[in-house]
Amino acid sequence: MTSELFSVLDVLPYGVVITTRQGEENYRNQFAADLFSHIDVSLVTDEMRRLASVSYPESELVLPGPPERTIAIRLYSLGDCNALFLFEDVSEARRLDRVRSDFIANLSHELRTPVGAITILAEAINETNDSESHTRLGRRILKEALRLGDSIEGLLHLSWLESGQAQRFADVDVHKLFSLAVDSTVEIAKKHRVQIAIACPAGIKIEGDEKQLVSALINLIDNAVKYSDPGSQVAVKASELAADLVEMTVSDTGVGIPEEDIDRVFERFYRVDAARSRKTGGTGLGLSIVRHVVSNHKGMISVTSEPGVETTFKIVLPRTV
Ligand code: ADP
Repeated sequence: MTSELFSVLDVLPYGVVITTRQGEENYRNQFAADLFSHIDVSLVTDEMRRLASVSYPESELVLPGPPERTIAIRLYSLGDCNALFLFEDVSEARRLDRVRSDFIANLSHELRTPVGAITILAEAINETNDSESHTRLGRRILKEALRLGDSIEGLLHLSWLESGQAQRFADVDVHKLFSLAVDSTVEIAKKHRVQIAIACPAGIKIEGDEKQLVSALINLIDNAVKYSDPGSQVAVKASELAADLVEMTVSDTGVGIPEEDIDRVFERFYRVDAARSRKTGGTGLGLSIVRHVVSNHKGMISVTSEPGVETTFKIVLPRTV
């Protein structure tokens, strides 16, 4: 029974360490052993010592990375003068907390900025009788209202994608998806003087929601164009990875994404450079929409970038959902 108990402790997704009251370690399970082999153990042992002397023996320890990890530690007293320390890796939960609170802060900012601008512009209209100023201010109000409308549309689109409602899965031709997406981005490509090159063998088909997949590709191509220099080229490619997988990539040779931002660009409203994105006119929701579309199709999305050299977004989709 004892060995079974140890086996059970070893498969737990928690670290378990048992010490004497004096702090001498008697046991550590597999999770704790793995954890301790990857971190500065003195940070943890100091914290364990501290917990043994406080009345509320629970804390979180942020261990420097990379990757940074947050470990929750709790001390339980065992009747026979021993102490049990329970360790839980709460890094992902804390990351999600941060994403959520950043989202609320960004959302408030996104909505408040145009509303604030519209209020000031409307007040300015009220204070002048000059018709030329009315036209100029009216145009700016329209621009801000359109921006607000885009953010709200983007949010509604996201929540519609999240709800998974009204998905229409059917056989779709990847070449057709590319053509539809490129048709919708021709104007912006012309404006930025960027060429879009498609490379897609005929006959690749996947099961998917055409409207969603086209909107994902439009977002990726639109970004590739927006963040590229005039005269450059955006490449949109598809290939069959295996009998049951299709890969689609959108590459550009523009500004790129710094390493420290790359994991966060799929978050709602996350922008590498807010001022630049405002100038290029994005809502900050495009990549979140893409990620949701990909996840609705049980696919994977990834991005690699070397700033100033090349950025590639890669989507891998199963042929059948
Ligand atoms: P936005 O509407 O601001 O473009 P997205 O969600 O589409 O929002 O993208 C999030 C951020 O990721 C952008 O603000 C930009 O900083 C970065 N980004 C996305 N695609 C590219 C790209 N192809 N090249 C460089 N940066 C990009």
